[in-house]
Amino acid sequence: MSSAEPGSVVIVGGGASAALTAAHLLIGEREGVPPKVVIVDRDGRHALGQAYSTDDPAHLLNAPVAKMSALQEDPDHLLRWARARGIDAEGADFLPRQTYGRYLRDLLDEAGQRRPGHLTEITGTVTGVASGGRGWRVTLADGTVLEADAVVLATGNRAPTAWPWQPEGDPRYIADPWAPGALDRVDDARDVLVVGTGLTMVDLATTFTSRNPETVVYAVSRHGLLPRPHRCPNPPAVPFTPPSGDVTVADLHRIYHEAVERNDGEWRGVVDGLRPHVPEMWGRLSLSEKQRFLTFFARGWEVRRHRIPPASVARIDDLRATGRLRVIKGFLDRVDARPDGLTVAVETNGTRRDVEVGWIVNSTGPAADPRTDALLRDLIDTDVVAADPLGLGLSADGCGCLLGPEGESRPGLFTLGPPLRGLRYETTAVPEIRAQAAHLAAVHLAEYDAPARRAATGRAVTT
Ligand SMILES: Cc1cc2nc3c(=O)[nH]c(=O)nc-3n(C[C@H](O)[C@H](O)[C@H](O)COP(=O)(O)OP(=O)(O)OC[C@H]3O[C@@H](n4cnc5c(N)ncnc54)[C@H](O)[C@@H]3O)c2cc1C
Repeated sequence: MSSAEPGSVVIVGGGASAALTAAHLLIGEREGVPPKVVIVDRDGRHALGQAYSTDDPAHLLNAPVAKMSALQEDPDHLLRWARARGIDAEGADFLPRQTYGRYLRDLLDEAGQRRPGHLTEITGTVTGVASGGRGWRVTLADGTVLEADAVVLATGNRAPTAWPWQPEGDPRYIADPWAPGALDRVDDARDVLVVGTGLTMVDLATTFTSRNPETVVYAVSRHGLLPRPHRCPNPPAVPFTPPSGDVTVADLHRIYHEAVERNDGEWRGVVDGLRPHVPEMWGRLSLSEKQRFLTFFARGWEVRRHRIPPASVARIDDLRATGRLRVIKGFLDRVDARPDGLTVAVETNGTRRDVEVGWIVNSTGPAADPRTDALLRDLIDTDVVAADPLGLGLSADGCGCLLGPEGESRPGLFTLGPPLRGLRYETTAVPEIRAQAAHLAAVHLAEYDAPARRAATGRAVTT
């Protein structure tokens, strides 16, 4: 990347966070030349990332069209895009995630076309980010070095935590269901054991049972809870005024239940009304209160907050009724790998049962610890960045500017989305990411606007 470009940015990771940040950087308010933007994604899934690269049309968005616009200030943007392409959609509909991927891809292409020569996409793995040159140096596994004024770590959700008993190199164990091509390996009718009962399990059960009418999917989790269903139409969000001062988890628990009672037991509107206030209230909880929430209340919040669309509910209900999806509350005790199959011992309340399957999928959700990611581990170990106090992601300020181990700012080094989990809690979905991307881009462009204007006009800028 030419070092003559003021405000140049390398974005590490190519998912929704990267696409939205790049779009705002390229088309955002700015005088003078726009910045050059390079997006590096290890799997070449630029704009799609982990969530929107699925090719199964039965994998649906978990939020309706009306809530999934890429642009916060233009809530109908996705609806217009869909209708312009002949997709017969309403605001309350749940689109396939692959369609949403096309939408993000179009958004990125459009931004690139408006700024010819300013957007570059590279397929490669970033192995290092260090200060140097005009700001930051980004090293790729193939030895390529990119220099930029700013770097955005848009590395997204991490793969699930590996189990200690994981059979090394055994293709029947799928360690990360969203890795490219991972589900293609399940190419016969043998039964599948999915560990985890969240949204990903819903997708996996749908895919495996559609491929093979005989396949039975066993879904195991300690709590046996499935995501709750959306109601159609979605009840309106109940306006919520956060309490002032210090808050505790007990306060929030009481406030939630009182609000549900006032709302005649309809909890969805209460959850949706609370959600935008979560990052601010989360910041006011003490560390021990946050840990208490994660231990005792997080699962209950997650199954209500991340709901499944009516079509997925109907499919899951049917699979359960016909015995093709069997949900087990328990945990895996051991796995015996034999040449002709896997015997999984599952323990429920002290009782063990053996389940015979052909495949096991780890669907326990993204690993919490940022150090499970090689790049983030290296950046933490070399004190470029710091893990947040909960150890769920990275330390950053309110603009997503990363902080070092002493809380010192790292100008020009940003993150957004999932790596802010520990600091904001609600940060992994599009409504949160689109706001963060717009804000991050505006902060970065404002930083470089004045020098750009100076270079363009040859005048000193006093504002
Ligand atoms: C299966 C699934 C379904 C979801 N459905 C919805 C939904 O319906 N609605 C919603 O609002 N949210 C949904 N989400 C939440 C999701 O987190 C966000 O919507 C969004 O996709 C996150 O995008 P991201 O770019 O931050 O992360 P990701 O999509 O994870 O993208 C990060 C990318 O960075 C790459 N990368 C990581 N490290 C490196 C490196 N060192 N070098 C190069 N590349 C690297 C990864 O390979 C990946 O492609 C879903 C998430 C998942 C996993």
